[in-house]
Amino acid sequence: MKVLVINCGSSSLKYQLIDTAGEQVLAKGLVERIGIEGSLITHRARGQKVQQQTEIPDHKVAIKLVVDALLSPDHGALKSLDEIAAVGHRVVHGGEKFADSVIINDEVMTTLSDCADLAPLHNPANIIGIKACQGLLPNVPQVAVFDTAFHQTMPPQAYIYGLPYEYYEQYGIRRYGFHGTSHKYVSQRAAKLLGRPLADLKLVTCHLGNGSSITAVKDGQSIDTSLGFGTISGTIMGTRSGDVDPAAIPYIMEQAGLSAAEMNDILYKKSGLLGISGISSDARDVEEAANNGNQRARLALDILCYLTRKYIGAYAAAMGGLDAIVFTAGIGENSVTIRNQICQGLEFLGAKLDPTKNNTRGQEIDVSTPDSTVRILIIPTNEELMIAQDTAELVGKKVN
Ligand code: ADP
Repeated sequence: MKVLVINCGSSSLKYQLIDTAGEQVLAKGLVERIGIEGSLITHRARGQKVQQQTEIPDHKVAIKLVVDALLSPDHGALKSLDEIAAVGHRVVHGGEKFADSVIINDEVMTTLSDCADLAPLHNPANIIGIKACQGLLPNVPQVAVFDTAFHQTMPPQAYIYGLPYEYYEQYGIRRYGFHGTSHKYVSQRAAKLLGRPLADLKLVTCHLGNGSSITAVKDGQSIDTSLGFGTISGTIMGTRSGDVDPAAIPYIMEQAGLSAAEMNDILYKKSGLLGISGISSDARDVEEAANNGNQRARLALDILCYLTRKYIGAYAAAMGGLDAIVFTAGIGENSVTIRNQICQGLEFLGAKLDPTKNNTRGQEIDVSTPDSTVRILIIPTNEELMIAQDTAELVGKKVN
């Protein structure tokens, strides 16, 4: 089945056309600077890369350009739009309403709008993308796949904060968790790689990229995860702070005379690797600076590795055991040194990294020693394929 996967941001749109039968990417691309001067579409298919700079005032025009690129006799991947069986949309926040992917109808659209307050930067863009696709492909089923859905299996003890319970009831303040599509995908791949049923496994999946989260996956279900109500908590990230004592926040605001919006900006955009190192949000730059003797860059990496290790230990305790640790996303897939440093000190759990096997990047591989009782896996994530597969499954059920 050919599925068009759409990941719509406020000013950008990523897409992939995937043939789910062969797990094959037929075309992919990126539309940038939507509604801003210098808009651009970059399209790749049939071994070609085509770029076109043109006015792209809104998402509807962006989707039209994507459709035109897909149909191009020269660099397209489709003869007719009828070949698209479904569109799968990445939607950031599904609140408590969506514990799984859904076929979009009017009721779903209303509920999505209700969730927009919870993710004001993302959900409105996702809704715009869905409406634009509905306009251009009115007869094609559209599916929403949520970043939060996989974590809806968490028990209340993991998602309720120690705040007055009314805030949960009135404002929906609770741990939601994110990167769910990635955690679900790598869990499924881990089970395949280990040759064991997912339903019998205790996994800690470490999605370490610009944004990072660590998840305890027990018997195939998320039972706890490090991101929470927003996308700040847990280990430090490129520009996000990770765990901070909440008492520090109003104190800083009072001392520095900051508004809530300014404080939010600092926690989301000026903290983490960037804030501690003062160098960069990019782990490669921070690693290079640390190797050249920069102490704050070294400290930033030490904190990233320490917090990640702490979460692995905590989640092993939460699950009452551990079968495998999975590393994924930009840092998890690529950084030999960060993986190595995280695993130092986990031997007591039975997790032993083989430094020779670990000297690799971007491939699906078991990098633990033969006598390690906890397997350590690198699994490149593939959120687009997961979205396409979920979409194909839902649409297939509807057709049959
Ligand atoms: P996003 O969360 O935006 O999807 P990615 O998963 O692409 O981000 O991860 C980006 C991070 O991965 C950056 O910090 C980048 O430095 C890091 N990264 C990519 N390649 C390497 C590498 N070879 N070594 C260390 N870090 C890397």
